[in-house]
Amino acid sequence: MSRLSLDAPISELGGWARRFEGPLRSLGVETVGDLLHHYPRRYIDRSAVAKLGDVRIRQEATVIGTVHGVNRQFTRQRPPRAMVTVRLFDGTGYLDLFWFNQSWPYRRFKKGQEVAASGKVTAFGGRPRITNPAVEVLKGGDADQVHTGRIVPVHPAAEGVSTGTIRRLVHDALRRTGRLPDPLPEEIRRRQGLLPPDRAMRDIHFPEEGEDIRRARDRLKFDELFFLELGVAFRKHRVEAETEGIAHDLTGDLAERFVKSLPFEPTAAQRRAMEEIADDMARPRPMNRLLQGDVGSGKTVVALAAAMVAIQSGHQAAIMAPTEVLAGQHLRKVAELLGPMGARRAGAEPVDEAQVGLFGADGPTYALLTAAVTGKEREAVVEGVRSGAIDLVVGTHALVQEHLSFADLSLAVIDEQHRFGLHQRVALKEKGASPDVLIMTATPIPRTLALTYYGDLDVSVLDELPAGRQPVETRVARTSLERRGAYELVREQVGQGRQAFVVTAAIDESNRLEVRAAEKEAERLATEVFPDLRILLLHGRMRPRDKDARMEAFRSGEADVLIATTVIEVGVDVPNAAVMLVENAERFGLAQLHQLRGRIGRGAHRSYCVLFDASEPGNEDARARLEAMVGTTDGFQLADEDLRLRGEGTLFDIRQSGMPDLRLARLAYDTELVRRARKEAFDLIDGDPDLSAHPDLRAEMERRFADSIDWLFHS
Ligand code: ADP
Ligand code: MG
Repeated sequence: MSRLSLDAPISELGGWARRFEGPLRSLGVETVGDLLHHYPRRYIDRSAVAKLGDVRIRQEATVIGTVHGVNRQFTRQRPPRAMVTVRLFDGTGYLDLFWFNQSWPYRRFKKGQEVAASGKVTAFGGRPRITNPAVEVLKGGDADQVHTGRIVPVHPAAEGVSTGTIRRLVHDALRRTGRLPDPLPEEIRRRQGLLPPDRAMRDIHFPEEGEDIRRARDRLKFDELFFLELGVAFRKHRVEAETEGIAHDLTGDLAERFVKSLPFEPTAAQRRAMEEIADDMARPRPMNRLLQGDVGSGKTVVALAAAMVAIQSGHQAAIMAPTEVLAGQHLRKVAELLGPMGARRAGAEPVDEAQVGLFGADGPTYALLTAAVTGKEREAVVEGVRSGAIDLVVGTHALVQEHLSFADLSLAVIDEQHRFGLHQRVALKEKGASPDVLIMTATPIPRTLALTYYGDLDVSVLDELPAGRQPVETRVARTSLERRGAYELVREQVGQGRQAFVVTAAIDESNRLEVRAAEKEAERLATEVFPDLRILLLHGRMRPRDKDARMEAFRSGEADVLIATTVIEVGVDVPNAAVMLVENAERFGLAQLHQLRGRIGRGAHRSYCVLFDASEPGNEDARARLEAMVGTTDGFQLADEDLRLRGEGTLFDIRQSGMPDLRLARLAYDTELVRRARKEAFDLIDGDPDLSAHPDLRAEMERRFADSIDWLFHS
C-alpha cells in the first residue's frame, strides 16, 4: 500500500471511507491530516469498567458488553410511544439500556456489537438498567474490529459517522501515513523531553496506559503553543527591528505638570506604569504595550500621562473607546484632569477667550469624535485633527473612518474591553506613521492570555488600587426574603445619601422577549418597589444623546437609583454610588459581573453588590461564577477563574483574530507549558529572527497563521 500524505483527502483511505466524507466534513475533517488531529474526546479504561455481574443499584457506572438483543415496544397511548431496550451481556451478567420515546437506539444497535455505556444504574424487573445512557459502539458497528487495547478512545462523532468508525479511520490513517515529519527542531524536542511525533500521534489515539495519554498530549500541546509563540515572537521582533518609531521627548514639562495638577497622589503602580510607558515612547521604536489593571485601578490617568508625552513632543494622541458612553466618559475625565493645567476643548463651542486668558493659551486642546458628533461640530473636529490644532481626540471607531486624517498621530490608546479585534487596532495605528500603541483592557486578562494571544505586547500592570478603596461586599440572593433584604439595603443607603445601580439587562439584545422582560422589571421596580425614591431609567433603545443626558443627571445626584436595562451603559464613574443590584446575575459572564461590580466602590464609602441568582438547580457553572464573585474582588484572580470556567474558545478577541486555534492546550491549566514553549520560541527568534536557517519552521508557522498573515508580517 502506498504512503499517504497528510494533505490527502479522506477518500484515499479506500472505497469504504468515501461514504463518511460528508459526515466527517461536518466535524471539520477533510484530509488525512485533519483526521489525525481529530483527537479523542475521552477514553474508557477497560480495567475501570464494572463487570455486569457486579454493578450495584444507584451506582454511576461505565460498563462494556456485547449486545445480546434489541427490543422495541410501544405504549398504548395515542400516539404510541416507543420503548427501546438493548440488553448487554459480558459473561458475568446482563444489563439493560433503556430509552423512552426515542427510536434511534432501535436502528443503531445490532446483536453482537460491543457497546460501552455510562449512567446511573437502577433496577427494573430484577435486572440492572441504565436509562438514557451515554453510549458508544466500540466494535461491530458500521466498522469492524479495530484492536483497541485496554484503553478505548472515544472520538467526537457526528450523525452518519460513529466513534467506532472514526476509530477505524484513524487507525488506517496512522498505518498509511508512516513516519510523520517532526515540525519541531530536534534539539528543542530533546531539551523539552518530548515524544517524537509518530509516537505522540499513535499514543493519543491508541494509548496503552494513562501515562501514554499524558505524554502524547504534552507533546502535541507543546506543538500548538510553540508555533503560536513562534508567530508572536516573529512579529514582535519584526516590528521592533524594522519599523522606525517616533522617539518622544521626555524633557518637556507637560507630563510633569499633568501629574502635579492631579487632585490625588498617583499610586506606586501608576507611577511605575507611567515611567515604563514614557521610557518606551522615548525609544525610536514603535511601542506596543498592554496596560493591565483592575477596574478602578486608574488606567485613564496613566493613558493621559502618555498622551501628555506625545503632545509635549509636538505630536497628537488619540483615545479610542468601544462605545459612545465610554468615549463620553473618557472625555469627561480629560476635561476634569486636564482642565487645571489649562487644556481646552475644541470643536464643541467657540473657544471662550476669557478662559484661554485665564489658563494661558499654551494648554493642550482636546475634542470628542463619535457618531453622535455631527454637523458643524464634526466638521470643526475633523478639520482640527487634520490641521493639528487638536492635540488629543477621544472617540469611538469613528476615529478609524477613512476620511479622518491626522496631522501627526504619535500615540494611539485603545480602551479595548475585548471588543475591538486585531483589525481595528491596526486601523487606528495606520492613522499615523508608526505611532506608539497602548492597549488598555477593561478588566485584567488571564496571565496565560497575556503571554500568548497578546504575547507580542509588552505589559504594564496596575496591581494596586488607589488608597482608601474598600473592597465591595458581595452576596448572592436567591429567596424572596433575600430580595427584600436587597431592596432594604438600597433604601438604607439612599437614606445615607448614597446612590444605587440596578441592572435588569437583557444579555442578548436581539432577543425581544428578554429585552421586554428586562424593561418590565425595570418598570416594576420604579413604580412598585421604589415609588418613593427618585428613579432614572436607561433603556437600550434610547438614543445615545438621551442616555448621556440621564447618566449625567444621575452623576450629578438628581436621582437616587439608576435602573439600567442595558449593560454597557453602566460603564460610568459615579463615586457616590454604593449599591449595585444585578438581576439574573446567573446569565452574565464573570468578566462582565466584575466589570459591573467595578461601578461601585469607587469612592470612600463602603459598597455592596447583590447578585440575584435565578438559575436552575443543576446549573453548576452559574453557581461557580457567582461563588467566585463572592469569594474575591481581585480581577486577576477572577480572570484566571473565568478562563477555567469558559475555556479560551469563547474569548471574543481570539476568535476574531484568526490566530491559530488551540485544540489540546488549555491556557488556564497549561501555564507551565506556555512558559516553556514561549521561551524556546523567543530564544529561537533571537538567534534567527526571520527563520532563514529554519525554512521548515517558517513554512509551518505561516501555515498555522494563514488566517492572520497580515498581522504576522505587518507592523
Ligand atoms: P479604570 O479605568 O482603571 O477602571 P479610572 O481610570 O476610571 O479606572 O479611575 C477610577 C477612578 O479613580 C477615577 O475617578 C479616577 O479619577 C480615580 N483615580 C485614579 N487614580 C487615582 C489615585 N491614584 N488616587 C485616587 N483616585 C484615583
Ligand atoms: Mg476606564
